[in-house]
Amino acid sequence: MPILRQIAQLGHPVLRGVAEKVADPTDPAVRAIIDDMQVTMAEAEGVGIAAPQVFEPRAIFIVASRPNPRYPNAPPMEPTVMINPELLWVSDEKEKGWEGCLSIPGLRGLVPRHRRIGVRYLTRAGEVREEVYEDFLARVFQHEFDHVQGLVFIDRVESSRELVMEKEYLRSLKSHA
Ligand code: ZN
Repeated sequence: MPILRQIAQLGHPVLRGVAEKVADPTDPAVRAIIDDMQVTMAEAEGVGIAAPQVFEPRAIFIVASRPNPRYPNAPPMEPTVMINPELLWVSDEKEKGWEGCLSIPGLRGLVPRHRRIGVRYLTRAGEVREEVYEDFLARVFQHEFDHVQGLVFIDRVESSRELVMEKEYLRSLKSHA
């Protein structure tokens, strides 16, 4: 039975280490961590979660996507588990977009990310997948990929003026609607 995990908050050292690669994705202990991550992400209504966020310093994350107010065209997708993820290439073109993080509740930041990326990862079954992502999916991947390198989105924000509290962010969304 999956366990709803606590989410590590900014300041906990587990968020600042480089996660270890997974030797065997089919290891029952690894599967149990992934099951826990899935229920924890769903409960928190996240669009992604990385293993260090549930105090497991391993190179695993889940990318999920659904349309949302800032990215109305974000593709709806089944949450996808990515093990030992790699960035193969990135587009020169970057784009700034708003991000939040389950480990930094209440804060949003304008983060520059590569608009298109090529990635490789292992599935839960241990199969190699290569994909090209763009826009919102590329953003979520890069955010989660940062987590397994010990980085968080505020590290990439270019100015503290591009950090806002969630309440103000939501208010600005309404006023631009
Ligand atoms: Zn995050």
